Amino acid sequence: MRIAMIGTGYVGLVSGVCLSDFGHEVICVDKHEGKIAGLREGQVPIFEPGLDALLASNVAEGRLSFTTDLAEAVQGAEAVFIAVGTPSRRGDGHADLSYVYAAAREIALAASGPTVVVTKSTVPVGTNREVGRILRETRPDLAFAVASNPEFLREGAAIDDFMRPDRVVVGLGDSADGDGNADGNAARAREVMADIYRPLFLREFPIVWTDLESAEMIKYAANAFLAAKITFINEVAALCERAGADVKAVAKGIGLDGRIGSKFLHAGPGYGGSCFPKDTRAFAQTGRDHGVELRLTEAVIAVNEEVKARMIGKIADLCGGDLQGRTVAVLGVTFKPNTDDMREAPALAILPALQAQGARVRVVDPQGRREGEHLLPGVDWAEDPYAAAEGAHLVAILTEWNQFRALDLKRLASAMAEPRMADLRNIYDPQDVQAAGFLAYASVGRTGFGGAAEERTAAAE
Ligand code: NAD
Repeated sequence: MRIAMIGTGYVGLVSGVCLSDFGHEVICVDKHEGKIAGLREGQVPIFEPGLDALLASNVAEGRLSFTTDLAEAVQGAEAVFIAVGTPSRRGDGHADLSYVYAAAREIALAASGPTVVVTKSTVPVGTNREVGRILRETRPDLAFAVASNPEFLREGAAIDDFMRPDRVVVGLGDSADGDGNADGNAARAREVMADIYRPLFLREFPIVWTDLESAEMIKYAANAFLAAKITFINEVAALCERAGADVKAVAKGIGLDGRIGSKFLHAGPGYGGSCFPKDTRAFAQTGRDHGVELRLTEAVIAVNEEVKARMIGKIADLCGGDLQGRTVAVLGVTFKPNTDDMREAPALAILPALQAQGARVRVVDPQGRREGEHLLPGVDWAEDPYAAAEGAHLVAILTEWNQFRALDLKRLASAMAEPRMADLRNIYDPQDVQAAGFLAYASVGRTGFGGAAEERTAAAE
């Protein structure tokens, strides 16, 4: 089947490459000329493990190509996917749908025959119906069908997630509701979607066939739930610190309950990234639009902000509450390992706050520098953790890259002016850190040693 993928970002590129690997003929489109020029040369614009090899093999086999010309890609395509960005709209947190609607208009103008338009971008309930309306209004002469096919891939594990998904969700309109799927187009949309994902159905990955609204809602409800789970354990972590419990043991103890599950129960510096922050905001806004206050989601958003602020206090506390003139070596600034994505990474809130309190910040990140350089003005970039720690007063682990999981702690401590560690991903055992010669250590939801907090406790006793 011939497929056009509009938007060649994290989702569009991975989806396009994987669909071509399923055997479809895929043309990926992006407005960004540099991105497309690079892709034509085999240069992958993002860091995603395994993507470059899969892309190269599908290009070599003639199934995958790249263009800036949307009309060229859309003409003759049976299915056109919309995978453009839906960032937060300034001010109200609503999803900015202008890229989605602009793409729908361009698709309508370019289409040459019956086309199934599939929304892969994360869009609030009601958006696909509006896409259908735009298509009909722009090209009343053509038979369009719309389908909602939200994407659940995780950056860093995106190919595996696309190829071996927990489920595929497809929302379709019914044939009588005037959503662009009238006159039998809904049935055709179902056939086209079934053909696209046939390799997955054959391997019995579950597919959820549903209506447009439910498909749209599934994506937001899933992300809001996951953000709530992370936030829950972060809140428990704060209590563990005060009450002398260990959040890692608590997470293990609750996660082994099959009804709860162990994933997304890792305490840390708060969720970030290109999805959870914007999607929780948009979900809360959708609730308000419909007169249903989503109080849990609203609380998750607020608590997550507090978590990031708490991390800043934790780092300052380790230095006796005074960061003026201190050097902080930060290990990891991307929002999670195995990605170069810096969107809404906790580092973007934490590092400027440290700088504002007078700290010099030195950063090392295996992939974050390209994006991070302009997002984090005034920081110095180091090549490796030991160089970053040279003469520093504190090392702060913000992202649990594998490279940071087995550091030579003695070497790290001896490189520092005053060895202290803020382990915001709970990678290390406090005893090991102390044995390596560190003066102070704090993590999230576990007892540390040294630092102002301990001094305050000692003074009170
Ligand atoms: P992105 O910003 O990385 O990529 C979007 C791309 O679309 C950009 O390259 C932009 O130039 C291009 N674009 C915009 N309008 C265009 C047009 N009219 N024609 C051609 N190209 C156009 O975004 P992303 O992270 O890939 O996210 C895309 C969507 O997928 C969002 O709705 C997001 O919420 C959702 N999503 C993202 C992830 C993720 O992990 N990043 C996971 C699941 C879902």
